[in-house]
Amino acid sequence: MHNGNINYLRDSSRKSKKNTRRKNKDTVGGLLYRRRRGFLSRSGISAGAAALFVFIITLIILTVYFFINSEPRSPIDTSDTENVSTSGVGDSEGDGSGTGDETQADEDKYELISVDNSIVNKGYLILVNPWCEYVFDDDENIVLLYKNKDKSPHYGLATASISCDAYIFGRLNEFVNAYYEATGDDGTIINSGHRTYEEQEALLTSRIESVGEEEAYKYVAIPGYSEHHTGYALDIVSYENSEAAGWYVDNCWLYGFIHRYPEDKQDITGIHYEYWHFRYVGEPHAEIIMLNDIVLEEYIEMLYLYSYDSPLIFEAHDGVTYQIYYAACDGEPTDGGKTDIYVPIGVEHDISGNNVDGFVITTVMDSANTAQ
Ligand SMILES: [Zn+2]
Repeated sequence: MHNGNINYLRDSSRKSKKNTRRKNKDTVGGLLYRRRRGFLSRSGISAGAAALFVFIITLIILTVYFFINSEPRSPIDTSDTENVSTSGVGDSEGDGSGTGDETQADEDKYELISVDNSIVNKGYLILVNPWCEYVFDDDENIVLLYKNKDKSPHYGLATASISCDAYIFGRLNEFVNAYYEATGDDGTIINSGHRTYEEQEALLTSRIESVGEEEAYKYVAIPGYSEHHTGYALDIVSYENSEAAGWYVDNCWLYGFIHRYPEDKQDITGIHYEYWHFRYVGEPHAEIIMLNDIVLEEYIEMLYLYSYDSPLIFEAHDGVTYQIYYAACDGEPTDGGKTDIYVPIGVEHDISGNNVDGFVITTVMDSANTAQ
């Protein structure tokens, strides 16, 4: 089930970093051993030179240690988007598991709660891509769009069966109505929303029949691997206004949506550029993703750097300050087990799975923190 690319995420994340570090250590150790042996046998001793060698190595180790520890770990804010390492380069310490031995965080302010491991596969931040399969669930709360369409007259539906997650529906109306307010164009059409496995299968089959396999696979995901299964993805276009795509891309973050498949990120998303496909991830995640010019794959990876005792602190455009961190799943999502997660006491928190290996906890730190 997890082939190649899920490993892209995993490999470039904490687990493989540990392996890489271990490998590096072995390599350095091996080199040291070989060099010392060669050195001693060639020169026939020189305790002084050996001591000098050990001294230099110690100096190098201390320098590297100092460099690693002096690396800034401070969370990003809106004015410092460079501070986010999306590639994980230099991540030598933040494995973000929240279960490490560093528990300097004020223990009194946190409590442990028990979360079902199956939550890994649920929530607004789940990653679904060509390598990360969606886990179908009977509890999905999917609603038909046309039933509430009278509340939002400024868009049409490609078919009467178009549906999405019940909560997303409200945000979609705000999003599309804001476009209408800004442009006067009521030609927006929702082309696609939630899809079942069977619907995705039928779509792929019909695309293959009409344009051939190669073209079809560029845009249509294999059943089980489409973001449309989540109910959080919508295809939005306007046939009246060619500028619509630009407005939707620029403003989607204000409504908790991200432009999911940018042109310059195809190698990461595995999906061809689609100006019409938007995905709900919620606030403040959409804003952070927009500010850092990253895609969901990169964001999920970035969050591995933050644990409850070293969270990402983010002040959103509306002055609300959020605290965001990752906690690893203790086991597998399907094992029926539970994971203990630290959450701030008495503070509203939201937990979403990442659909890979853990949970993302989002809390509002200080809603009164407005500068205006
Ligand atoms: Zn789509």
